[in-house]
Amino acid sequence: NKMVYYFGKSKTEGKGKPKALLGGKGLNLAEMTSIGLPVPPGFTITTEVCDQYYKAGKQLPSGLMDEVGKAIKKLEKELDKKFGDDSNPLLVSVRSGAAVSMPGMMNTILNLGLNDISTEGLAKATKNERFAYDAYRRLINMFGDVVMGMDHHQFEIAFDKIKKKYNVSDDTEVPAEGLKELCEAYKEVYKEHTGEMFPQDPVAQLELSIEAVFGSWNTDRAVKYREIEGIRHLLGTAVNVQSMVYGNMGDDSGTGVAFTRNPNTGGNKFYGEFLINAQGEDVVAGIRTPQPVAEMPKWNRAIHKELLEVKKTLENHYAEMQDIEFTIERGTLYMLQTRTGKRTGIAAVKIACDLVKEELIDQKEAVMRVDPNALTQLLLPSFKTTARNAAEVLCKGINASPGAAVGKPAFTAEEARERKDAGEDIILVRRETSPEDVDGMSAAVGILTSTGGATSHAAVVARGWGKCCVAGASDVEIDEKKKRLKVHGQTLGVNDVISLDGTTGEVMLGAVETQEPKLSGDFAKLMKWADEYRTLAVRTNADSPADSKRARDFGAEGIGLCRTEHMFFEPDRIIHMRSMILAEEEKDRRQALAKLLPFQRKDFEGIFKAMAGLPVTIRLLDPPLHEFLPHETAAQKEMAAELGVKASDIKKRIEALHEANPMLGHRGCRLSITYPEVLEMQVQAITEAAINCGKKKIKAHPEIMIPLVGTYKELALLRGKVEETIAKTVAAKKFEGDLDISIGTMIEIPRACLTADEIAEHADFFSFGTNDLTQMAFGYSRDDIGGFLPDYLEQEILDVDPFQSLDQTGVGQLVELGVTKGRSAKKALKIGICGEHGGDPSSVEFCHRVGLNYVSCSPFRVPIARLAAAQAAI
Ligand code: PEP
Ligand code: MG
Repeated sequence: NKMVYYFGKSKTEGKGKPKALLGGKGLNLAEMTSIGLPVPPGFTITTEVCDQYYKAGKQLPSGLMDEVGKAIKKLEKELDKKFGDDSNPLLVSVRSGAAVSMPGMMNTILNLGLNDISTEGLAKATKNERFAYDAYRRLINMFGDVVMGMDHHQFEIAFDKIKKKYNVSDDTEVPAEGLKELCEAYKEVYKEHTGEMFPQDPVAQLELSIEAVFGSWNTDRAVKYREIEGIRHLLGTAVNVQSMVYGNMGDDSGTGVAFTRNPNTGGNKFYGEFLINAQGEDVVAGIRTPQPVAEMPKWNRAIHKELLEVKKTLENHYAEMQDIEFTIERGTLYMLQTRTGKRTGIAAVKIACDLVKEELIDQKEAVMRVDPNALTQLLLPSFKTTARNAAEVLCKGINASPGAAVGKPAFTAEEARERKDAGEDIILVRRETSPEDVDGMSAAVGILTSTGGATSHAAVVARGWGKCCVAGASDVEIDEKKKRLKVHGQTLGVNDVISLDGTTGEVMLGAVETQEPKLSGDFAKLMKWADEYRTLAVRTNADSPADSKRARDFGAEGIGLCRTEHMFFEPDRIIHMRSMILAEEEKDRRQALAKLLPFQRKDFEGIFKAMAGLPVTIRLLDPPLHEFLPHETAAQKEMAAELGVKASDIKKRIEALHEANPMLGHRGCRLSITYPEVLEMQVQAITEAAINCGKKKIKAHPEIMIPLVGTYKELALLRGKVEETIAKTVAAKKFEGDLDISIGTMIEIPRACLTADEIAEHADFFSFGTNDLTQMAFGYSRDDIGGFLPDYLEQEILDVDPFQSLDQTGVGQLVELGVTKGRSAKKALKIGICGEHGGDPSSVEFCHRVGLNYVSCSPFRVPIARLAAAQAAI
């Protein structure tokens, strides 16, 4: 297989090749070259080579360096420079680039090709000795760090000595002479720590660097990043070798990072930052605080204009917002990278809608462009206006990623992780973040940095995650050792609460009250388009009128699961539930149930009203009874006093209800088999509520759902009881109008899937309870999986938590079988899902594929499910 793909004026080999082969960066360099943008020429080594490298026990495949050699020859010809030359040397950068972007996760080596001779050559060619030796010292430093694994600090000591000698404090003030000395010193440091001389042969430098980039694919931080991002099944990274251009050749040079549109808001305005007289890494690392590109015309109007042209060319080519890196060398613009820009959920929605308006994409494409999970960011909290107006603003940084975060500062990634695991809300406070911090960043509710800009590591990563981030708050002085921060004379420690506003960049003292977000017009537009394409209905899991209302506002088309047990926990109700459980005689149970009935009826009426005209699936009592009783002695005593019984009797009853495996015990329909009076009360309440609504001309469509059915006989028997109770209630109320009540079952026991045809004979509908189904199919206790899940994920036994994303290979087969068998007995059987998976995009896609009629999920996830359902249908 071809291992190396050249891009340049003479030839662009990678155009249109798969991203999986060339990586994102490699492919885009080829694409940009082919559409005539000014890209410094170079070549890409494929991800297949990375795979071969690991398969061969970390050995570069034979023949690779020959192909690399040929590509170098082509470069030398195109640029009329020579590798290692003493008058006009070719210099290259070596960078990683996987198929999925992993910002700052992997290694980069710049200025490769410099040695004692070619550095003099560079000095001659550029007529700038200082520049040449500065480039050389950077190479030795980076090569030491990245290829030889040296500690950056070792070089810093040497640099400090030189600065002292020349009596300067800034790197840029060291004269050429000093940098020459520094290169000698660096070579010594290098030799001392690696036991080898710094390699003078550029080809040897290149070979070692290629290996180092491949090696960086499996560093802890890269592995961790892929784990957090759920990036799997990639061959490895590609290596991009590209001729160098310099942004640090003087005040007519510079470098920058930009987005073709605003990645926070989606606004169609070129957005980014640049630094004059600097190399690209200086911007990303956040060492110096750059200027916004809007200021660029003051410095160089022509380049700014050219960049706006580049924006147009790129957006027309990719029909997508791009994230670019560029360098200006002595007044000439070069494009170093382009990729699809990461953006907030808000920006994603706006950009998708705007691109439709600009006729770059159609509605269908717009629906496909937005990651359903990113919608959570549109549903993110912000600060209440009154609260934030009253809040004490400590300082202001860059509004790097929107949202509102309230928490206590932690000063290292580890501390953030530990304290978060102990239950605290944490704001990670760092000078700047680096890839090593990703775990702590993921643990934090918000991130605050004191240097760097809107394109620094912290900003890019936080934005990708939809996490609130304020960057570059330069008034914040951080003392990591003493675990405190100082801002305008105030000192705050680990127990002081701060609030971050990622939308304005403000840092506030104390916990500022937050509020739920409002949805934009573009959001509504996108949702409307999504609704046009999807065929799956989206319902919600809700058990109160308030939740039902919220879910309807989010577009829910009914309730797929109302867990009636949640209604029993309120203080004025639980008491009756408990006395029902304690009762020994049916008569006493009925008495207690009669007291619960009005509560249930009222709730149901409220829900029917909120869902007027839409179906409401109500599940009969499901959990084991012990869940309603107190387990602490003090609480048992309290309950005894309230009910006027002996505490010892309560204890006895609790002991009697004790089960070794309560989730496999006396719960679900088994309760109704033993205590039919519970079913009767609930069905009576539902029927009366429906009648009351009918009288008020509110359409109610209750669907009574019997849980945990494993054999058709359970359903047949209980269905009979439900029908009997409905008839009795109607007669007692002398109601003569129409009632639309259907009776169905949950399919959540594997045997129910296997015998779904028998069960369907007695059901008007099925609803898959994939929580229990997953529990029983895997044999993993839903409540105890935390004990081993992390090991299972880490050792890649599981790709994801099967309680979050449906296991399509295994549990999915049961679902499919249940659908096929159920519909074989009853063709028009209505089937849905109400397990947690109903709001998970990939599970929604599965539900669409196997022909369900609807998914049901928590109110907050309804828009996510709507969009996911549309994407599944397109
Ligand atoms: C289920 O099992 O998937 C379900 C929705 O019911 P619960 O989670 O209440 O057991
Ligand atoms: Mg269940």
